[in-house]
Amino acid sequence: MNIAIRWFAGYGLHEALPDHSSLTRIRQRWGVERFRRIFGRTVKACLDARIAKGEIVHIDASLIRADVSWESLAVRYVEATSEANAEAGDETEKKGRQTGKYKKVCVTDPDATMATNARNRRLEPAYKQHTAVDDLRGVILDVAVTTGEVNEGQVLERQVDATMATTGIAVTTVTADAGYAYAKVYGALERRGIDALIPTKAEPIKSAVPLRRFRYDARHDVVKCPRGKVLRPGRRVKHGRFFYARARDCSRCSLASLCLSRGRVNKALVIGDDYPALLRARRRRDRWSSEDRRLYQRHRWRSEGFHGEAKTWHGLARAVRRGLDNMSIQSYLTAAAINLKRLAAVLIALFRARKLGAKGQCRPC
Ligand code: SF4
Repeated sequence: MNIAIRWFAGYGLHEALPDHSSLTRIRQRWGVERFRRIFGRTVKACLDARIAKGEIVHIDASLIRADVSWESLAVRYVEATSEANAEAGDETEKKGRQTGKYKKVCVTDPDATMATNARNRRLEPAYKQHTAVDDLRGVILDVAVTTGEVNEGQVLERQVDATMATTGIAVTTVTADAGYAYAKVYGALERRGIDALIPTKAEPIKSAVPLRRFRYDARHDVVKCPRGKVLRPGRRVKHGRFFYARARDCSRCSLASLCLSRGRVNKALVIGDDYPALLRARRRRDRWSSEDRRLYQRHRWRSEGFHGEAKTWHGLARAVRRGLDNMSIQSYLTAAAINLKRLAAVLIALFRARKLGAKGQCRPC
């Protein structure tokens, strides 16, 4: 269709082009891993050209509309589930009542799930692209695609490790929005010695006496309640530990009616393993320097700018094909194309600078 592309691919005007189905066959034969390596080579080329440093990384995620029509969405058949397994059916129905709707599934692309990026927007069948962007010139250092309903915080740790593996450079600072503000994210970055510029969220108030009114002493591993009683460590759970106040400590407390769950006399709460990291991040947030604020501002236009560019100019607003592997290939190719554009822009600028210099004119600094 385009003579420039034909020339670039090495085909003369008289030569027959390969059938378009060849591209599909090549894609299937190569698989995702090959495309990931192609993308990795563009990252290395950008590092070699010194337009990326790999030290300060902006991480963000964006939804991509799956290639699924509204007609192919089906509501889960609750009655059938209920008959097959009365207990599971009750649970599904209960969840459906809580959310006000039964979640839909994509029949033609089961890898895509219903997700939305705002509370007042409807759910759409989607994938989620997680991206790590370099601070210097916006080179894409890593992309990962998951189904739409995966939470951003679950992917960050893996993505930071993947970025360091691709670049071979230790990340020093990670910026991300409040959607990543979980204790386990702060904990994971702390363990790697990485500075987290992630604004903490206000603690959701689910109880009249919320967790933030209890003081956790990490050194002695005890918790003090708002009335000064010490809650002692109990059994461990998957990612934390229970802390208990004995019944006799709470019997005369004026807050007992608000603090204790109905029908209980003991106070019990769970402190996550990374809770101390979250407390440190909250204190750090209050002391953000002007440089930290500037960096967080850059996060906005670096990472969101990339998503805007990919969707507006490279067709990433909607999946071209179905399935997680095909979506990943689309993401790798888009990110590779954007990296090559960044590289070309720098090379052209260098070339112009040299040309001007040879004529004895002023070189751009
Ligand atoms: S009910 Fe028990 S744990 Fe809660 S504030 Fe009173 S003494 Fe402390």
